[in-house]
Amino acid sequence: MNLTITNLSKTYSNGLKALNNINLEISSGMFGMLGPNGAGKSSLMRTIATLQEADSGSIMLGDLDVLKQKDDVRKVLGYLPQDFGFYPKVTAWDMINHFAILKGIDNAKERKEICEALLNQTNLFEARKRYIGDYSGGMRQRFGIAQALLGNPKLVIVDEPTAGLDPMERNRFHNLLSEIGENIIVILSTHIVEDVRNLCSNMVIMNQGTILLKGKPTQTISDMNGKIWMKLIDKAELGEHKTQFKVISTKVVEGKIQIHVFSETQPDSSFNTITTDLEDVYFATITK
Ligand code: ADP
Repeated sequence: MNLTITNLSKTYSNGLKALNNINLEISSGMFGMLGPNGAGKSSLMRTIATLQEADSGSIMLGDLDVLKQKDDVRKVLGYLPQDFGFYPKVTAWDMINHFAILKGIDNAKERKEICEALLNQTNLFEARKRYIGDYSGGMRQRFGIAQALLGNPKLVIVDEPTAGLDPMERNRFHNLLSEIGENIIVILSTHIVEDVRNLCSNMVIMNQGTILLKGKPTQTISDMNGKIWMKLIDKAELGEHKTQFKVISTKVVEGKIQIHVFSETQPDSSFNTITTDLEDVYFATITK
């Protein structure tokens, strides 16, 4: 089943154009939506998740009209929002059981089995009797995935899931996501380039409500190979380099500044070529 977004636009009442004519085809697997804060990712996620209206355009999930058949879409949708609200003094077991009832899993025996399986899958079964308020950030995010997987969703949306997780928790969360992403559509919205590089077979880079680049991460990297140039400069030289070249990123390295520059050909002999990575693709795309 594919998710097809056609000519989708949304302007908020304050005049801010959050989605500007989005066209996108997403099939099963992990799909990355990459962009800086304010790019419009959450607006798009919330619209796909039937939580927000668009001004124009359409979204089809298979033959379901997402903007109109909201109840039908919600039955096959799992959503982990950016700010996952929870009751701190409720155990994980009681909470997932409650969500399962809301999802319409009425048979008590079946519900117990499903909840157990999901807490096992997310490595929370041992901790099921603890309050969610006492969970670490990583455990909470894994719980968020457990509830999002209730009812065998065909589409799972996770919005900025690894922000604030330590590297180990993040790694664990990645492993969990990559396990679920094979047969269903999983959309991962993030500003962390590495998350998309590690997990996603397809992606878009968006900014200011517009899709700037679509493709497979590996393909976009090879398309840009040979066009990213590196130079170490003193801090005082940065301003001049920024006016002269298309500087896409800067990083302090042992007191000097390492700049990456986008250019079809070698800018001058002081620049060295480097192996392009997805971060270069990302910065070159959003600084266009
Ligand atoms: P992202 O998830 O990529 O950070 P958002 O979709 O949250 O982006 O925001 C896109 C733009 O729309 C931002 O400029 C944001 O301030 C604005 N925005 C988001 N929600 C609202 C709203 N409810 N009302 C007005 N502006 C909003």
